[in-house]
Amino acid sequence: MDLRTEPLLEEIAARIRSCTRCGLAALRTNAVPGEGLQHAPIMLVGEAPGEKEDDTGRPFVGRSGKLLTELLEAEGLKREDLFITSIIKCRPPDNREPTREEVRSCAPHLLMQLDSISPRVLVTMGNSAYELFSNTFYLPNKKVGEVRGKVFRLHSTTTSYLVPTYHPAGLIYNRKLIPDFQNDIRTAIRYSKGTV
Ligand code: SF4
Repeated sequence: MDLRTEPLLEEIAARIRSCTRCGLAALRTNAVPGEGLQHAPIMLVGEAPGEKEDDTGRPFVGRSGKLLTELLEAEGLKREDLFITSIIKCRPPDNREPTREEVRSCAPHLLMQLDSISPRVLVTMGNSAYELFSNTFYLPNKKVGEVRGKVFRLHSTTTSYLVPTYHPAGLIYNRKLIPDFQNDIRTAIRYSKGTV
């Protein structure tokens, strides 16, 4: 018997698609809840949907998404075996950074997804995702370039570890960061399998 009381991912996605908690609701074509396994061992969280994501309602399907998919596959990971989403579920105009108010409004959706999936490893991609979770879990208040390469043990959640890394969009413009990103993904895989 399933005793879980958290809403399942599809129920959370339906709430997201009808959400009007911030002004981005009026601007979206589609909300982008995220996609992947209900009980994914690794959850990847980026910043916000872009134009292609807004058009399709799917996460990371534009240029940076293609690069992300390639880099994951190079480490033997298929997107469908993970859960991939962003801290904001609707596209900010002109791909601007989400405001603090928008992040605050949208955070309950993301935290509900985290609770529902309970991944062993949470991978934050980019500064915005790390900043949100560093505030949530009382981690060092630093930029991703200063904390990547570290693994944070989480004590206040069913998720055991947080691995910060770069956002794939940043890798397009600075390909020298790709080996670090790949190392971080390898670290996440090791921790998700409990082989450390
Ligand atoms: S960005 Fe988040 S909080 Fe704002 S309308 Fe979309 S789903 Fe709701």
